[in-house]
Amino acid sequence: MTEVFVALGANLAQPQAQILRAIAALQSIPATELLACSPLYSSSPMGPQDQPDYINAVARLQTSLAPHALLDELQRIELEQGRERKDERWGPRTLDLDILLYGQNIIDDERLTIPHYGMKQRAFVLVPLFDLAPQLTLPDGSQLAELTAAIDRTALFRLPE
Ligand code: ATP
Ligand code: CA
Ligand code: CA
Ligand code: CA
Repeated sequence: MTEVFVALGANLAQPQAQILRAIAALQSIPATELLACSPLYSSSPMGPQDQPDYINAVARLQTSLAPHALLDELQRIELEQGRERKDERWGPRTLDLDILLYGQNIIDDERLTIPHYGMKQRAFVLVPLFDLAPQLTLPDGSQLAELTAAIDRTALFRLPE
């Protein structure tokens, strides 16, 4: 089994409900266990600003699926929750599921880049990841605690439980 962290994001069609539904769906992935989920956060959109705020969270899983098989399952869940692919980058979506980390593996091919290429620059990823794993060291040797302490968290708000 490999420990995996998945970032969840949604900003359409009752985003908080989308995130809760997605967390439940993660439990249905074969050969995979959901170990924990962070608190929920709201964040301002990245990229185009003419879209609603996002709800974000990070989930901790363990899986015996290979990385690409796990991505297949995550994309299936996105589609089941009405994800539509548009031309606009970082446009609004009902659900986005990104693999942040797959153990300490480094993967870079046409379908997968792990660690996720943007994670170190995104407060809505680092902060909930830190909630789950404050001692984490990334495959490049950087300390999650140091990255999280340095990130600008303007417009990131933790939702009441
Ligand atoms: P960003 O990747 O900047 O967060 P996005 O999540 O909006 O943007 P998508 O349109 O959801 O991007 O995904 C585009 C492609 O990214 C997917 O088809 C997938 O093959 C690829 N991809 C690469 N690395 C990953 C990863 N670690 N997790 C999920 N998808 C990935
Ligand atoms: Ca399962
Ligand atoms: Ca994303
Ligand atoms: Ca994505």
